[in-house]
Formats: sequence, structure tokens, C-alpha cells
Amino acid sequence: MRTVIAGGGLVGLTAAASLRSAGHEVTVLEQAPRVRAAGAGIGLWPNALREFDRIGIGADVRAMGREIDTWFFDTTGHPVRATGYDASAHRFLLVPRPRLNGLLADTVGRDRIVLDARVTGYTEHESEVAVHLASGEELRADLLIGADGVYSRVRAQLVPGSDAAVHAGHHAWRAVVPAGDERPEGTVLTIGRERTRGGYARVSEGQTMWMVNQFEAGPLTGTKRDRALDRAWKLAGPGWHDDLLRMIERTPEEAVLESGIMLVPPLSHWTSGRVALIGDAAHGLSPHISAGGTLGIEDAGVLRACLAAGPDTATALARYEDARTTRFDRVREHAAAVEQASGAAEFAERYAEFSHWMLTTAPTG
Ligand SMILES: Cc1cc2nc3c(=O)[nH]c(=O)nc-3n(C[C@H](O)[C@H](O)[C@H](O)COP(=O)(O)OP(=O)(O)OC[C@H]3O[C@@H](n4cnc5c(N)ncnc54)[C@H](O)[C@@H]3O)c2cc1C
Repeated sequence: MRTVIAGGGLVGLTAAASLRSAGHEVTVLEQAPRVRAAGAGIGLWPNALREFDRIGIGADVRAMGREIDTWFFDTTGHPVRATGYDASAHRFLLVPRPRLNGLLADTVGRDRIVLDARVTGYTEHESEVAVHLASGEELRADLLIGADGVYSRVRAQLVPGSDAAVHAGHHAWRAVVPAGDERPEGTVLTIGRERTRGGYARVSEGQTMWMVNQFEAGPLTGTKRDRALDRAWKLAGPGWHDDLLRMIERTPEEAVLESGIMLVPPLSHWTSGRVALIGDAAHGLSPHISAGGTLGIEDAGVLRACLAAGPDTATALARYEDARTTRFDRVREHAAAVEQASGAAEFAERYAEFSHWMLTTAPTG
């Protein structure tokens, strides 16, 4: 099957590697001049790693990452963790994003990835789909996968009126810095005052990733580092998180990543006869559940399995859509419950409920 994938981010590259391993003739169209990854590290759960195992790169991904035992803290620095769940509900693999995308690109085959190739739309025919590029070129395929992120062009055409919306006042700041005197093991994530969250995790022996977030952040003033520091001050009382404040203070301004969070609304459909959405293009979520990428990798596995089961592309895509929209209805409920948690203990409880649900109900095909 000739499969074109719009978007060479984490999920597009995973889908390409996965479908290629299942015998598809794959072409990835990426608008950027190189394969890249916005962000520092990404937390991946076992449901994502299973798909990497299937593709044959699970061991390499685990070798480049670091197992992180998650801990939440309250504003006094007191650790809180939901009880009654086994260890797997509190543990993920933190992987450096650029290295992961590099490994995926090598697995797909760099010659199958066309750079500087911006998809502008498509025309669907009964026997094939024509994919239109900004250059004026056109590619013909049996299947088009829209893995082009939150601002997806493919989604704009497939589901008109589905523009991503700002998640009111939700902002995230993060950076990777040389490791210092902070706690080396596990995450330190404080659920702070004024709807802030923040902390850090060791990405590798020599590097730590810090992150600070706030729901309903007021006006943003000063440099990116000032804005992150403002939120870090709100996290906790004196003494707790001096290490985080030091880390942010010594981060060069240009190394601070700032994101305004965008959400993709629930969609009436994810597919047509020869087009399917996948990853953030289908379900851009708030990062407070740290699972959008993991669930996008799940999408890739389910899509591969549905296509392999046949009997034809349209039936397979309908089955994929049904499975994924049902799952994401529940993901959205969990995400809202975590977002509305009133303090650290409730946040930890609801987060564990979500991760336990995600892992125990994950597709295995
Ligand atoms: C602060 C933050 C922290 C997060 N932490 C986690 C975490 O710990 N764990 C987790 O699982 N998830 C996490 N996520 C979510 C995760 O980052 C995303 O779900 C994931 O990166 C989505 O991957 P994607 O490939 O679908 O989209 P993207 O990574 O956005 O890739 C889309 C690609 O498509 C390309 N593109 C766009 N338009 C076009 C076009 N018209 N033509 C061609 N190419 C195009 C883009 O250049 C890009 O390369 C986090 C998100 C944020 C913001």
C-alpha cells in the first residue's frame, strides 16, 4: 500500500516506522528543513514502548531514556502519592526528544522523509488520494495520514471548523540544564498555589529538565525566564524548591521553552475513505496528563493493526476511528478530573487513576 504521512514529528515518524514494518510503501512529508523535536524530554509509558518493541527499537529507546518514579509534593514539600496502585502506575521512561526523533527517522529511512515539504490539502478519489504540496507538486497514494500536529492542514480539510483553541491561560515553561545539587532520583513535581505545577527530573547523568506550568496564568510580563521564575515562586513556601529556583536562574534566556497550550476540540470524525488523523492532529491535549505523545504512539499501533486486518482501507479506517474516539472520550474525562483537582493529594490520586486506567485498558494488538 502507498502511504503518505503529513508530518514528521514523533507520531508521524512512529506511524511511518510501524507501517513500513508492516509492508507499506511509506513517504513522510515534513514542512521543516530537518527532522527536529520541540521540547526537551518526553515521558513515555509502557503502552508506547510496546509499539517500539514491535518495530524493533524498544531496547534502543530504553537505553537512551531514564526510568522515572513519579512523586508529587504539596506546597510545604510534603510528598503525596496515591495508594492502592502498583508501581507501574507511578513510573515512566523519560526520553530526550531530539534523540528519539532521530532514531525514528533512521528507522523509517531518511530517504523516505521529504523535508521542506508542506502539505496544503488533498483530493480524495475512489481509487486513490492526491496530496497537494505548497511547491505545487502532487503525490498520489492509497492512504494519507494526517500527523501534522495541533494546527493540522489535513484536519482543517477533513473536519472543517475544527481549529485548535487556546486552553485558557495555560502556559508551560521548561529547559534542560546541567545537573546540579538537586535530588537525582525520581520526579519532584509540586502542585503549588494559584494553580501552578512545577519541578524537575534528571534526564541523564549530567542533565536535568525543569518545568513550570500554570493554569489560568495572568498577563505574561518580562523575559521567558522571569515568567517561569514568577510561577516557580508561587509553587511553595520558603525553603522548598530553592534548587528549582537556582536552576531556572542559571538557565540562559534562549534555552527557555515557553508554550501557550492549544487544545484540539473533540472531532465528529477522524477518518474518511482514504484519510486518517493521528497524534496531536486528532487529539491535541493539555500536557498536564503527560500522555499526548504516548497516546499518539498508541494510535499508530491501532491504525497498523486495523489496516492489517482489512478487508479494505475504508473499513479499516472506520474501525480505527471507532476504537480511538471511544478511548479519547475517556481520556478527556480523566484529563478534566486531574485539571480540576483541588490540591496535591487530589491531583496525585486522580493522576494515578488516569495512568492506571490508561495502562490497564491499552490496546495490545
Ligand atoms: C509542555 C509539554 C509537555 C508534554 N509532555 C509529554 C509527556 O511527558 N508525555 C507524552 O506522552 N506527551 C507529552 N506531551 C504531548 C506530546 O508532546 C505531543 O502529544 C506529541 O509531541 C505530538 O506529536 P505529533 O507528532 O502528533 O505532533 P508534532 O510533534 O506537533 O509534529 C507535527 C509535525 O508535523 C509537521 N507539520 C505541521 N504542519 C505540516 C504541514 N502542513 N505539512 C507538513 N508537515 C507539517 C510539523 O513541522 C511537525 O514536525 C507534552 C506536550 C507539551 C506541550
